[in-house]
Amino acid sequence: MKPQELRDAVDKRRTFAIISHPDAGKTTITEQLLLFGGVIREAGTVKGRKSSHFAKSDWMAIEKQRGISVTSSVLQFEYAGKQINILDTPGHEDFSEDTYRTLMAVDAAVMVIDSAKGIEAQTKKLFKVVKQRGIPIFTFMNKLDRDGREPLDLIAELEDLLGIEGYAMNWPMGMGKGLAGLYDRVDHRIELYRENEAGERYLPLDENGRLAPSEPLANDSIYTDTLDSIELLNDAGNQFNLKKVMSGDQTPVFFGSALTNFGVETFLKHFVEMAPAPGPHRLQDGRALSPTDPNFSGFVFKIQANMNPNHRDRIAFVRIGAGEFERGMDVTLARTGKVLRLNNSTEFMADTREQVQTAVAGDIVGLYDTGNFQIGDSIYAGKDPVEYEKLPQFTPELFMRVTPKNVMKQKSFHKGMQQLVQEGAVQLYRTYTTNDYILGAVGQLQFEVFKFRMQNEYNSEVVMTPIGSRVARWIDPEQLDEKMSSTRNLLVKDVHGDPLFLFENQYAQRWFADKYPEVKLTAKL
Ligand code: GDP
Repeated sequence: MKPQELRDAVDKRRTFAIISHPDAGKTTITEQLLLFGGVIREAGTVKGRKSSHFAKSDWMAIEKQRGISVTSSVLQFEYAGKQINILDTPGHEDFSEDTYRTLMAVDAAVMVIDSAKGIEAQTKKLFKVVKQRGIPIFTFMNKLDRDGREPLDLIAELEDLLGIEGYAMNWPMGMGKGLAGLYDRVDHRIELYRENEAGERYLPLDENGRLAPSEPLANDSIYTDTLDSIELLNDAGNQFNLKKVMSGDQTPVFFGSALTNFGVETFLKHFVEMAPAPGPHRLQDGRALSPTDPNFSGFVFKIQANMNPNHRDRIAFVRIGAGEFERGMDVTLARTGKVLRLNNSTEFMADTREQVQTAVAGDIVGLYDTGNFQIGDSIYAGKDPVEYEKLPQFTPELFMRVTPKNVMKQKSFHKGMQQLVQEGAVQLYRTYTTNDYILGAVGQLQFEVFKFRMQNEYNSEVVMTPIGSRVARWIDPEQLDEKMSSTRNLLVKDVHGDPLFLFENQYAQRWFADKYPEVKLTAKL
């Protein structure tokens, strides 16, 4: 690819993830986006993917053959001349560290909120990770077709709970059964929930933001009420500030209803215009690498293990940070210096059948992996070594004690444990005095995968005893006194040997803080 072609291709990329709490409507909205992208023709297909009716047959073949759900990992389509990559952030019972790590591979995030519920726990957790990256966050307040909370409340909650300014791009005119439409502050029009008698969907607003007096809706109280709200927003609300949006300090807020496909395309249109193309990536040595650097490089942000015992390979998902990926290319694994040939049987790209087979900075490629990769690994073509900045550590919330079932099989137990921990499947801790093994995770799934893989890949049956959820806080070794530990705050060390407490709950943590006010406790992300 010529330099200009590469620049154009990179400029077209819009790579993002949707963060939300389960049931807020992420799947429904994703499906609508695919509909606009022409990837699917009918609503209902994405939901069906769980029961294997997904329309994209190539993906299905891989999925069936490999027993891995790849369909949901990256969805790619074109819209308004842009190449959209949506990275899946599994929630529900699939929630794991991978969900967090996926957020390291995107250039923007979309936060879907159920307007009846407001900001919920999982959204808050995911938001924190996105916010730390300083990337733009767009908000979709969903389920407007149902009675929800006051829109002003919802906007205020963004600031109160998340510390991000909200700027309403449009404003609901009623909700639930009374939903009439959206007052669009940017496109200066009203988007009707249902076409009016003249078959119109949009009504233009004049330069003062008013409907023509002849328009029947102009005399409706729902319209005049909306004008009052808009006036309030204009006078007392946040001013739109693109710079703040780009740094993740202000979120453009869109209202709508994914289920009835209302407001979704308006959202998509603005999102595509505002969301950034891939930018420079920070490297471990502090340099910033331009996405249009001619040499391919990328980093592994997720490894999906195969739960089918007949296929032990796994898929390493690589976010391309710079250059163009070519099939069959040689790359160097930065951690080991080993050269790997990525021949055709070991790679696939996240694209639809008909589309161009190029992958450039911003895109995701999946590599079939037989054990070469670890999470956070960098790979590069060309002579100059490229090592991407380390992925952050996340604070696990769930813990398990683990022992080998058969004490005669210590060796395979240790080997499996070491490799799975290195790969990033779970986190490992040891108790201070007795050196017991304790696993930490952000989601239950990680333990299940661990157990399964120990047995199937390392022939090591493990016994896992739940400790339950704990608040993990690291302590400066200088300040540590082993006597500080009790049953309510178990003292352990992480793989680097750094000490931390696993507090039974927040009360135990507070109690500790009161007792040892001089001791500083820190969380990872
Ligand atoms: P996810 O868990 O975030 O992926 O949520 P889903 O997309 O599966 O939606 C959860 C439930 O909310 C489903 O029953 C959807 O049909 C419903 N839902 C999603 N969007 C809307 C909406 O805009 N209005 C209403 N009334 N229901 C919705």
